[in-house]
Amino acid sequence: MRTLIRWAGDDPEREGLLDTPRRVAKAWKEYARGYEEDPAVHLSRTFEEVGGYDEIVLLKDIPFQSHCEHHMAPIIGKAAIAYLPGDRVVGISKLARVLHGYARRLQVQERLTAQVADAIWDHLQPKGVAVVIEASHACMTARGVQTPGVMMTTSRMMGTFRADERSRREVLALMGY
Ligand SMILES: [Zn+2]
Repeated sequence: MRTLIRWAGDDPEREGLLDTPRRVAKAWKEYARGYEEDPAVHLSRTFEEVGGYDEIVLLKDIPFQSHCEHHMAPIIGKAAIAYLPGDRVVGISKLARVLHGYARRLQVQERLTAQVADAIWDHLQPKGVAVVIEASHACMTARGVQTPGVMMTTSRMMGTFRADERSRREVLALMGY
């Protein structure tokens, strides 16, 4: 961090910057906390008693932060995660935990989207999974082409949501698309 500060043109010995390397290191421990966990553990405790409920379960507008692996710059966005249960459901907050577990790593948005969908698909064995992520990338909005406000959208549809046009339209409508 001291090298980077010097390289950026400032003085790492300046009072305001003296503690910065330590603070950045501490912050990065938090940004990268996902490496210390297997997000799938959040999906290991399931419930079978759902009173015959067999429709879409959706959690939307889940805010998240990640960092792009190319520039280590923030990716800030929101996700919508839906599944069509087989015979198991999870506590709704677990879906957000899976997202954060993968987001708190160095990422590309495409892989983040796929990892969240795959984890739900593999561990809940639902009939369908749909994940849509919208995010802005600081490496694009604050540098390079400098296009603030531009959002990138990625999605992954599996099972029924992939195979059946009507289910896909239904889940996308519930998500607000
Ligand atoms: Zn980037």
